[in-house]
Amino acid sequence: MKSLNKEIGTVTLVGAGPGDPELLTIKALRAIESAEVIVYDNLVSQPIRDLFPSTAETLYVGKTKGCHSKTQDEINQLMVELTLSGKNVCRVKGGDAFVFGRGGEEMLLLSQKGIQVSTIPGITAASGCTTYAEIPLTHRGLTQGCTFITAHADKKLDVQWQALAQLNQTIVVYMGLSKTELIRQKLIEHGMSADTPVALIENGCSSDQRNILGTLDQLSELKHQHDVQSPALIVIGQVVSVAEQMQWLHQLNSKIQPDTPSSTVLAKTA
Ligand code: SAH
Repeated sequence: MKSLNKEIGTVTLVGAGPGDPELLTIKALRAIESAEVIVYDNLVSQPIRDLFPSTAETLYVGKTKGCHSKTQDEINQLMVELTLSGKNVCRVKGGDAFVFGRGGEEMLLLSQKGIQVSTIPGITAASGCTTYAEIPLTHRGLTQGCTFITAHADKKLDVQWQALAQLNQTIVVYMGLSKTELIRQKLIEHGMSADTPVALIENGCSSDQRNILGTLDQLSELKHQHDVQSPALIVIGQVVSVAEQMQWLHQLNSKIQPDTPSSTVLAKTA
């Protein structure tokens, strides 16, 4: 973490993955362990926070829906001030900083101020959570691609529903929990089958991970019935049927996977 200018510190943007500390990359772990100041978000799980060295100054800047402890401008300003005072900042974010993580904005802003920024990729929620739920993002014969979208927008949600409904790909929706009814309606309205398998994954990659499986038509119902809370991902597509098959196979083999800290609930078909 060498600085261009001796007096100015650097920023390392670290993707901490979706929760399980064992999903940190070696590079991320090293950056955390050698950090002078850690600025971290609310999606950084407690087991990962437990790895922060006691010698590091730790600053929580988490943003939760409707309750911002700091605005993005304030976070940027904080990092600028820290680096200008000569500190090297380890900016730790959940998942991957460049996937719905505003990492790109932070990198550009800090670079514009002449601050050296490097970025360490992390496992994004779509990858970690689906894997722990035994849902492959792509599967030969089922889908040839996947699309990540966010259902969060500062102003109006700008989603190409028609294109999305007809892509025939796995769709992973980040920040979609408050929009389940809209997602269900729009996709069905634009031609996606109401029977398309869906999964709601809550607290992915933690010991509390819950996977609720059902169909697109049941999406909002499942959320309410199982009281699904944030953070949660919505996965839509035929690949979810692989997790359903795995449930039957686990029952058949009457054993649970030792390495998948997650519980799966199959919705009853209507
Ligand atoms: N940069 C992060 C995403 C930040 S957006 C990444 O790459 O994963 C925040 C959204 O990500 C949450 O609202 C939720 O939809 C999803 N998410 C992040 N971590 C999650 C987790 N452990 N379990 C389920 N969803 C998660």
